[in-house]
Amino acid sequence: MSEVILHNTLSRSSEPIAPSKGNRIGMYCCGPTVYAQAHIGNFRTFLSQDVMRRTLQIAGYNVFHVRNLTDVDDKTIKRSREEGKPLSEVTEHWTEVFHRDCQRFNMLAPQVEPKATEHIQEQIEMIASLLKKGNAYQTEDGSVYFKVTSFDEYGRLSRLKERELTTTEADESPNDADEYDRESLADFAMWKSRKPDDGDVYWESPWGEGRPGWHLECSAMAMKYLGNHLDIHSGGEDLIFPHHENEIAQSECSCGTRFFRYWIHCAHLLVEGGKMSKSLNNFYTIDDIAEKGFAPVVLRYALTSGAYRQTINFTMDSLHAAQSALGRLRRFSEDSLSAVGLKWGALMKAIQKGKHADDSWGPFQKAWDALRTDLNTAGALGGIFSVIKEQGSGGSRNSQNATEIAIAFHKLIFALGYDLSEVVVEKPKTETPEEIKELAQARWEAKQSKDWAAADDLRDQIQSKGWKILDRQDGFDLETL
Ligand code: AMP
Ligand code: ZN
Repeated sequence: MSEVILHNTLSRSSEPIAPSKGNRIGMYCCGPTVYAQAHIGNFRTFLSQDVMRRTLQIAGYNVFHVRNLTDVDDKTIKRSREEGKPLSEVTEHWTEVFHRDCQRFNMLAPQVEPKATEHIQEQIEMIASLLKKGNAYQTEDGSVYFKVTSFDEYGRLSRLKERELTTTEADESPNDADEYDRESLADFAMWKSRKPDDGDVYWESPWGEGRPGWHLECSAMAMKYLGNHLDIHSGGEDLIFPHHENEIAQSECSCGTRFFRYWIHCAHLLVEGGKMSKSLNNFYTIDDIAEKGFAPVVLRYALTSGAYRQTINFTMDSLHAAQSALGRLRRFSEDSLSAVGLKWGALMKAIQKGKHADDSWGPFQKAWDALRTDLNTAGALGGIFSVIKEQGSGGSRNSQNATEIAIAFHKLIFALGYDLSEVVVEKPKTETPEEIKELAQARWEAKQSKDWAAADDLRDQIQSKGWKILDRQDGFDLETL
């Protein structure tokens, strides 16, 4: 079991993660709004959550991952109206596309993926309890708003007080939009009465026909699926305010207990130096990148190789760099596996099932320490590449603890989520000179007869001629240095 440290937005400091109960970590991630294909910025956040889950798993925790699908809100309704299609047809289509993209990115599926439209009753119950406790009020049109002044701690997550905003200065008029400005402090809608623009998207409630506000679904579904394990809650940094602030207010007032202890936020992705968003239409999807000839694993590398709390700038150049870095990882993987007779698929499955859960990292200790310290993926990759450089690709064949090295390397690759079997490496083809073949054969025979001094001497001779021996269990390969 290793300690994992994450930066908690709530305390603005790095904290060791401790499950609230037993060994299980409840992790709630705000999922996609299914009205269009998720762009690579959205996936930067989803991928960083995938790395977080994998890292916690490798550290020895039993992670229970919930990620919702926002299938009713202002944006989904607008899209269904524009396309003249029923809301469910639009959201089901984009949900399928999202699942396909997640698979291509080699993301682990959450244990539960609840939909907002399938949890209307739970949301209505939460509103009813807030009305009863005096944290909410109904307006004449049948909408229900959360009263921000009723919750003393409103603003705890986004530090409103530091920005000299207090709830007593809340806007006079309540806000019924799902998304609103960072500086706009207003009572927000939990139940929106039916409007003509909503068409046939409405549900019956004690307050008449209408639909829930966006913030409410995450409160209700997180409580339902993780009520006893409110550990990690995560999303992109744009969700800190108002979405997560509002979730905390609704949930804590309704249940009287703390709503999640660790709040983890991923910084945004810029594209060629600029902000990207669905509304600005300057975003790339996994398909756009595939069309340019890059496999999803290459895009995954480009999106995850920078530390998640730093804004990163996506460029086409970063894909070329990712491609060559992955090629080096794949070669090391192949060499280290064949040296000890292990197979990629079987080893990765075993790691996923927790079969190599011991904490032995050998030369990869530094890389693992970087990863478990606020998911420093850049540091982890740096650590991996320095081992590869030190050992030379295939160096682990000659190492006494070749098995430990192969397993530790692949545990890191699992945590980073790189499916190296998808990486295409073109090996330079060079004819091996007869002289080198003979020296290598002589070395093999020396090794068989356990004449280590002669074997080492022959290896040095081969290396001095610019060639390198890669040992397999049943023979050897040769490649240029
Ligand atoms: P949405 O589908 O708009 O609800 O967003 C899904 C996730 O993507 C949320 O966690 C957002 O915070 C996150 N997100 C949106 N834009 C970006 C971006 N440019 N970079 C990183 N994450 C983003
Ligand atoms: Zn949410």
